[in-house]
Amino acid sequence: MAQESLNPFEIALRQFDEAADKIGLDDGMRAVLRTPKRQLVVSVPTLMDDGSVRVFEGYRVQHNLARGPAKGGIRYHPKVTLDEVKALASWMTWKCATVNIPYGGAKGGVACDPKKMSRSELERMTRRYASEISIIIGPDRDIPAPDVYTDAQTMAWIMDTYSMTIGHSALGVVTGKPVGLGGSLGRAEATARGALFCIREACAVIKKPLRAATAAVQGFGNAGGTLARLLHEDGARVVAVSDSRGGVYSARGLDPGQVREHKTRTGSVVGFKGSERITNEELLEVKCDILVPAALENQIVLKNAGRVRARIVAEAANGPTTPGADRVLRERGVFVVPDILCNAGGVTVSYFEWAQDMQGFFWDEPEVGRELEKFMKRAFHDVLAASRRHGVGMRVAAYILAVGRVAEATRVRGLFP
Ligand code: NAD
Repeated sequence: MAQESLNPFEIALRQFDEAADKIGLDDGMRAVLRTPKRQLVVSVPTLMDDGSVRVFEGYRVQHNLARGPAKGGIRYHPKVTLDEVKALASWMTWKCATVNIPYGGAKGGVACDPKKMSRSELERMTRRYASEISIIIGPDRDIPAPDVYTDAQTMAWIMDTYSMTIGHSALGVVTGKPVGLGGSLGRAEATARGALFCIREACAVIKKPLRAATAAVQGFGNAGGTLARLLHEDGARVVAVSDSRGGVYSARGLDPGQVREHKTRTGSVVGFKGSERITNEELLEVKCDILVPAALENQIVLKNAGRVRARIVAEAANGPTTPGADRVLRERGVFVVPDILCNAGGVTVSYFEWAQDMQGFFWDEPEVGRELEKFMKRAFHDVLAASRRHGVGMRVAAYILAVGRVAEATRVRGLFP
């Protein structure tokens, strides 16, 4: 079997090129949209609790600003690289355009192991990183949010650091903040809830009631852990879940609320009572109707795509499926809800949060929920219609829509100077 590239930015460019070919984008526009607008690499010297100083490498990439300020999360992970951040930034551009919110795409990250750092070390590293990237972020310029191993507290530190720098409180500089600090009701669940709306629509397409469906979820954090609970509440049987330490399986179904309690107590889903231990690789091959990758990139690859037994793959994670695996899934008739659609609920409610911050006027939770459902359903059906019109899978269809929108904004703005 041919060796496939697992470089996330090369993968992002291949996905872009496929859509660009379909819509006949000219070479100049292609070159503009393939290239990140700004790439900032910063060193983040941090005082550790033992008195030593460590220097972490941090990144902030703004991929495209044609449709509005840049938007995208910040990831803390030992394997963060510039190419990963570039890929994630470009996926944010296409995601914001897919759900038609007025943002470009960005992403940030720090190569560090947050599990081995104390809270005060994390705070000092976050504040120094925020200060280093403050030259390009801001409510009208680039608005970070949480991603893997960052959360509402991380956002509060960034908001405070930025606000101290400019001399007044800037609520709109980050989203995913604590509700008491200009955060939006419903933001914590938004990524999972948005994915749930997509899964409901996908079940209707393949004519499988969600109530009668089984699901397996890889990753038990903000996206995966919450989605497992929402699927369970909707009547689906969640047969397998996992985190970085491994997975658990039960043909009878797991109660995600109890799994969450177990993880809070022990640090992992592994060892949950009445379950069988499985690996993360085995989870992807579990017999189920809905497979939800909700951890990291490159999980469904050419090597294992033929063994995926789900009928729907709902990509709560960014970039979980390689282009080669995507082709295999398509040939096998698996309905893939692509990341730039499936997990767009997070950035959509981030947009609502930012709009509330800028207006200083806050919505109640039902209103957030109603608007999210409206945005997600509209986007799902726009993508489905494009997929039928062009005779392509949902991923290429989402890119066709998104690339078309960003290209149009770029065209009408014109080339400066
Ligand atoms: P998180 O930090 O809350 O959770 C990550 C989860 O993945 C944890 O349970 C962790 O144990 C697990 N994990 C880590 N490495 C793993 C591995 N090798 N195998 C299996 N599990 C592993 O992060 P999150 O915010 O839930 O993000 C998860 C994915 O969802 C990422 O791809 C992220 O980009 C994407 N996403 C998140 C949001 C959001 O709003 N949080 C929005 C859109 C997309």
